[in-house]
Amino acid sequence: MKTSVQIGKVMGIPIKIHISFLFAIIVFPFIFSRESVTGFADVESVSLRYALSLSLTILLFICVALHELGHSWVAKGYGITIRSITLIIFGGIAAMEDIPRNPDAELRISLAGPGVSLVIGVFCAVAYLTVHNIAQSLQMSLLFDVSHLLWSLAFINIMLFAFNLIPAFPLDGGRVVRAWYAQRMQYLRATRKAVQLGKILAIAMGVFGLFASHWLLFIAFFIYIGASEEEAFTKASVTLEGIKVGDLMTRDVAFVGDNMTVLELLQVMFGKKHHIYPVTDPFTGEVVGMVAFADIQSVPMDKHNVVLVRDVMATNIVSIFDDADAIDALQRMSMHKIGHLLVKGRITGRIAGIVSKTDLLRSIEVLGYSEQCNTG
Ligand SMILES: [Zn+2]
Repeated sequence: MKTSVQIGKVMGIPIKIHISFLFAIIVFPFIFSRESVTGFADVESVSLRYALSLSLTILLFICVALHELGHSWVAKGYGITIRSITLIIFGGIAAMEDIPRNPDAELRISLAGPGVSLVIGVFCAVAYLTVHNIAQSLQMSLLFDVSHLLWSLAFINIMLFAFNLIPAFPLDGGRVVRAWYAQRMQYLRATRKAVQLGKILAIAMGVFGLFASHWLLFIAFFIYIGASEEEAFTKASVTLEGIKVGDLMTRDVAFVGDNMTVLELLQVMFGKKHHIYPVTDPFTGEVVGMVAFADIQSVPMDKHNVVLVRDVMATNIVSIFDDADAIDALQRMSMHKIGHLLVKGRITGRIAGIVSKTDLLRSIEVLGYSEQCNTG
């Protein structure tokens, strides 16, 4: 299912909105119209109240997009490709082609987003003071409302600046801390240190949140999960560096026809003892699916000679070239939520093997262990 829609392009980067954003565009104006700190509960005219609340919501997301564009602009300077910027309910995500392992680049890229938020925040604060003074001298109520909008924008952007600099993954502050450590030690160790700090902060926030605010508890949980994910991903990408899909794939592939019965398939499985089998259409010779033992477990015993492979096989086959980086294979699997990829030879264009998540995870474990032994 497509979960986000492109709304435009800035600096050649596609800007997308996620479906959760639709929820925000309805709920946020409602919240802003009911509270008076950042919102407009005090505005008397109902239509003006909602118009201002909706404007603030749209401007808020523009500010989030500008924050992400700040990161992207600096990243582009380092030659990193930005695939897209997606606006989701609680912020934005800039999808970068690969995460820089250069601490100076990471430091600058991470600071650029909060920097943009700070600049917008200060600009809006100055604009607020100016408009507010004019409103006072002219005694115009509409100008007072506009100045309140500017005040809210200043407040929100300063909050975006401060929140993102909390030194914990997956926030910008976590990356800043990692970059700071990485200037002094090995990348993986630096990540572990930054993750540790983030987890301690998340736990402290969580305990405090239990008594103070449930929102804080939610944020603490989000930070804790993000920190753990970052550690796992960095470990994987550092250990798999320089390793290609072709180095880890299983070359010995057994094909089965889609018109085989489950009983016939079981006989092949007993003989070959593989985990997964590409399924071909015997007439065209094309691969039409993948079948594993788990797929036939749900077929009742007395139906084994009636049900065909094509009835139980998985049809979402994703392939990768043998010269692709192993880490890309892992990312592709988690993106498509599958456990296997079909490997094609770059030169031959033919199926060269199969790579599984288990193969990759086992390699990370083994390589990570031997690396630990080497570095002491
Ligand atoms: Zn950011």
